[in-house]
Amino acid sequence: MKALVKACAERGLWLQDAEPPEIGPNDLLIKIRKTAICGTDLHIYDWDPWASQTIPVPMTIGHEYVGTVEQIGTEVRGYKVGDRVSGEGHINCGFCRNCKAGRRHLCRNCQGVGVNRTGCFAEYLSLPARNAFLIPDQISDEIASILDPLGNATHTALSFDLVGEDVLITGAGPIGSMAAAIARFVGARHVVVTDVNDYRLELAAKMGATRTVNVTRDDVRDVMNELGMKEGFDVGLEMSGHGDALRTQLECAVHGGRIALLGIPPTELAIDWNLIIFKGIVIKGIYGREMFETWYKMSNMLTSGLDVSPIITHRFDYTDYETGFDRLHSGNSGKVILNWS
Ligand code: NAD
Ligand code: ZN
Repeated sequence: MKALVKACAERGLWLQDAEPPEIGPNDLLIKIRKTAICGTDLHIYDWDPWASQTIPVPMTIGHEYVGTVEQIGTEVRGYKVGDRVSGEGHINCGFCRNCKAGRRHLCRNCQGVGVNRTGCFAEYLSLPARNAFLIPDQISDEIASILDPLGNATHTALSFDLVGEDVLITGAGPIGSMAAAIARFVGARHVVVTDVNDYRLELAAKMGATRTVNVTRDDVRDVMNELGMKEGFDVGLEMSGHGDALRTQLECAVHGGRIALLGIPPTELAIDWNLIIFKGIVIKGIYGREMFETWYKMSNMLTSGLDVSPIITHRFDYTDYETGFDRLHSGNSGKVILNWS
């Protein structure tokens, strides 16, 4: 089969012939239809310090996909050949304290599809059946291929009650923009989204942000005044990984505000802890998706009117993956899809 392989410990990604994966008794063999490129894939492509310390070489990468069940392990129940599935990319151990307690997203021994084990940028993927998610008929292949990052947005946005609240989202990348759509869908009042890139901010506006702010030109505090907001944002969703954005979150939060952190800062960063202490701010770190509450909720929001389709801006054949990666590198894109069928 064809696969996009991190074949050498240097910048790049290589289209190669690979052996189709074997499946064990508890696995599904999935024939891939569409995949999406994630920021993590860019780090792996670029071979930055994180990637070079984390990714085994050679390995097929990729973890955002939709496909159909081609073959079913002997012990698997609940799936049939031809079922449309995507999958949770965090494969947990099943034995640690949190796994045992049903909090699989907090597993301390998690393995990532396309990060620590063979990924989905290929014609076939082997996945433990317990990690698969059956796609409702109403959800298109394209949207099904981005359930992984939509799940990050869902997990973060639904961490705190947003009904009637003012929400500040820092970072209008694909995940921040999808979080804006969710915040509106569940009934937030002002959904203010910041970024440093106008293309991304336009996308956030299309997705439902009620106000966008380019922080290279404008100050969030001025926007709060314009909107008649007196006390600060009730909920913050940090989705850029940038220190300035986190500082803005802390400065613009209401007393007793709640902030969920999804963005991953590349290095340690300094903040004014006094803001957290004296404002009584609650901070929650977010990793991945809740298994499978997040999947259940996002799937039901999608089938009851949540529209995230504007976030998909580019589509390419998998053989054209270099163009897809270039697009995402440029910052002037939302989600980029690769077709495999
Ligand atoms: P992305 O890199 O496409 O988006 C980040 C956005 O932040 C960009 O549009 C960038 O222009 C913007 N930005 C940069 N500086 C800013 C600033 N000072 N203020 C406001 N915005 C600023 O990433 P994404 O795919 O949308 O993911 C969002 C973040 O979440 C990334 O940091 C990513 O690494 C992280 N992430 C975390 C998890 C997790 O499980 N915790 C999962 C996926 C992604
Ligand atoms: Zn575990």
